Amino acid sequence: MRVLLLGGTAEARALAKALHPRVDVISSLAGRVPDPALPVGPVRVGGFGGVDGLRRWLRDERVHAVVDATHPFAATMTAHAAQACGDLGLPHVVLARPAWDPGNAMVVASDAQAAEVVARQGYSRIFLTTGRSGVAAFAGSDAWFLIRAVTEPEQALMPRHHHVVLSRGPYRYDGELALLREHRVDALVTKNSGGDMTRAKLDAAAALDIPIVMVARPPLPAGVQAVGTVDEAATWVAALCLT
Ligand code: NAP
Repeated sequence: MRVLLLGGTAEARALAKALHPRVDVISSLAGRVPDPALPVGPVRVGGFGGVDGLRRWLRDERVHAVVDATHPFAATMTAHAAQACGDLGLPHVVLARPAWDPGNAMVVASDAQAAEVVARQGYSRIFLTTGRSGVAAFAGSDAWFLIRAVTEPEQALMPRHHHVVLSRGPYRYDGELALLREHRVDALVTKNSGGDMTRAKLDAAAALDIPIVMVARPPLPAGVQAVGTVDEAATWVAALCLT
């Protein structure tokens, strides 16, 4: 029973730990981060070369099932996995951590819409946490941005006035509160990533009455099976092993 585990998240690492070595699980990382947190067990790194490449790889490596535990915003990889598994008739499940309740946040469908809201509302000091790829939508803004990302965004794609903080979670409430105060932030822009590792910023913003602009998750491909926790994904794999 060989399982491809599409990763790049804490949940994927936890699932690899739960399955290895009972199950022959190969974790896959995109290879974007220079010093990634590695899961236990075998790991491959880099893109597959689109749906065709993934289909080929799954056949060559004699994979029996795929667990897609990529980040909820890794929509391209998720679409490719759904397509390739559908084509090959492979069992496939998406492990997607539950989304945050947006509460009073202004919910938008894309980074571009978030940038429109920021401009329309006249926010001037924005804590931007949509990640490296989410920065470009704000490139034309005259506001000041505190940009937090794991790797440095491309200089040409950044808004004129900014300060970059390179870090990765987890983040704690006290630290987030201090950061928002220190930089006199007047709006938070975030993706609805879900999970506990990065949610403290929402509570800190709410405590300071700072408005939140939240980019909604891309929808999952039609018809895919999804689970919300590592335990459920491990149970799904265990059930396959018994069949
Ligand atoms: P994406 O836009 O959905 O994927 C773009 C391409 O990157 C895919 O077509 C695939 O290339 C390659 N790729 C993505 N995930 C891969 C994986 N786990 N293994 C092998 N190739 C992968 O993905 P993304 O949003 O850039 O995310 C890249 C990675 O960072 C993912 O592993 C994701 O879990 C992690 N991550 C993403 C975010 C986020 O906000 N998007 C946040 C935290 C972590 P080919 O077409 O060549 O196969």
